[in-house]
Amino acid sequence: MELTGKLLLGDSFVKGSGGSFKGFNPTTSMEMFPEFYGASVEEVSTACRLADESFQAFRATSLEERANFLETVADELEKLKSSIVARGVQETGLPEGRLQGELGRTTGQLRLFAKVVRDGGYLDVRIDEAMPDRTPPRPDLRLVNIPVGPVVVFGASNFPLAFSVAGGDTASAWAAGCPVIVKAHSAHPGTSELVAKAIVAAVKHCNMPTGVFSMLFAASRDVGTALVADPRVKAVGFTGSRQGGLALQAIAQSRAEPIPVYAEMSSINPVILMPEAMQQKAAGIAQAFVGALTLGAGQFCTNPGLVLAVEDPSLELFKEEVAKGLANSAAATMLTAGICEAYQSGVRALKANQNVSCVGEGMNAEGVVCQAHVFEVGGANFLADETLQDEVFGAASLIVKCESVSQLREIITILEGQLTISVHADAGDEPEVRALLPLLMDKAGRVLFDGFGTGVEVCDAMVHGGPYPSTTAPATSSVGSIAIKRFLRPVCFQNLPPSLMMPEISSENSAGIPQRVNGGLKIG
Ligand code: NAP
Repeated sequence: MELTGKLLLGDSFVKGSGGSFKGFNPTTSMEMFPEFYGASVEEVSTACRLADESFQAFRATSLEERANFLETVADELEKLKSSIVARGVQETGLPEGRLQGELGRTTGQLRLFAKVVRDGGYLDVRIDEAMPDRTPPRPDLRLVNIPVGPVVVFGASNFPLAFSVAGGDTASAWAAGCPVIVKAHSAHPGTSELVAKAIVAAVKHCNMPTGVFSMLFAASRDVGTALVADPRVKAVGFTGSRQGGLALQAIAQSRAEPIPVYAEMSSINPVILMPEAMQQKAAGIAQAFVGALTLGAGQFCTNPGLVLAVEDPSLELFKEEVAKGLANSAAATMLTAGICEAYQSGVRALKANQNVSCVGEGMNAEGVVCQAHVFEVGGANFLADETLQDEVFGAASLIVKCESVSQLREIITILEGQLTISVHADAGDEPEVRALLPLLMDKAGRVLFDGFGTGVEVCDAMVHGGPYPSTTAPATSSVGSIAIKRFLRPVCFQNLPPSLMMPEISSENSAGIPQRVNGGLKIG
């Protein structure tokens, strides 16, 4: 399918007037055509106006209409699957199979949110009926979640489909009833244009208000800045660097009306290897660890960047297996030249640290590639050097050799907030793990056993979030059905006349919505 390089304002593809840039193929290190045209500040304003104008009509759509829209976007994406995957492979260097899987995950997310909308439970309707005879009398009170308004989404570089234009942030915002403006990531503009085409087809097919979706390219940071600063925007979803997330949060907080920025940023996803488990299966864990570390050139927010284990012969065996595994690990293409440079700079810093030694290295090659690395440091030195907690985005990890389980615990205590913490434990480790659990919960959004954080299931029970700096908003998740909560706020109606009551909060409940009535849950 032919690409135009035009941005999308509502239903119109327009040649942006804010400068231009080209795509980049990281596998060949060649620029790609066509040229993409960034938005001007005026075009940013137009996208915000369209989103604002469409908000009342979009929030008024029935749950069925909105669910149908989400499913139609999924259907339209499937129609363009081969073009989207082919362009995605060129722009990201990710293998075809990975992008096919990611497209399936993207359509799966959209369909999950369609179910969430139809179910109506997300509205969290609560009814406390009037008690006129009580002293003092209780008024009639009815709570329902409402959409916050237009949402800006910054697509992620490392998930060009599932965390990008029609990804989880967009799907959850639409599900809540919020129009979306996407700032396409400059690392995959062609893929973004194709996805936008699929969305436009769904908007038309479902007769949705045109401003429910716009997508902007950016030739400069002014576009992102202006989007977050626009008073019509009410929330922001972001996945990327800590620096980027914090810069956008600062803009959002300095507005006349500050708004939330739901930024998923940096996490090193500690892996805790308990002594009994290491005695039993150090070699097997090492092999699985190398697989998780090098998957996708390590370009996952859940990549295992830190390993904590107690000094012991089994740790030596673990390291030997890791070194063997790495030696057979081919250099893999990274997403962008900038991400590759950042990775190499992080590796250089670890190599230059006199307390850090290298456990093993992967194969190397010319170009925009990641050579996997695993390093080691002693527990006391880790405790004394906070730079060793910096995320090195890519296939790099640091093993911390702890003197004891009690030092391992001390190290967990000083860790920053994380998306995931993995624990490898056997039955004999149980008392110590039980004692660690409250600390692990305090540090991470997801605590998992006998595995690694990579591979995030999209479902009702998933949390992909965590304390700062893994996110700016630890009470939420950017994956799974609870992601919708970011774009809702509760409103309480007191003594609302029945003639004004919307069906979801009426006591007749003709829509069959789950309602909590006078303290008891009624399902449909
Ligand atoms: P990024 O530089 O933070 O950019 C993400 C998005 O935000 C891009 O669209 C970018 O625009 C925009 N942006 C960033 N800073 C901005 C600012 N000050 N004002 C306006 N817009 C801004 O992230 P990235 O390009 O994806 O990767 C860079 C680094 O981020 C990686 O090396 C890695 O360290 C980290 N990263 C972490 C994760 C994770 O999940 N933990 C995922 C991806 C990346 P432009 O496209 O115009 O630059």
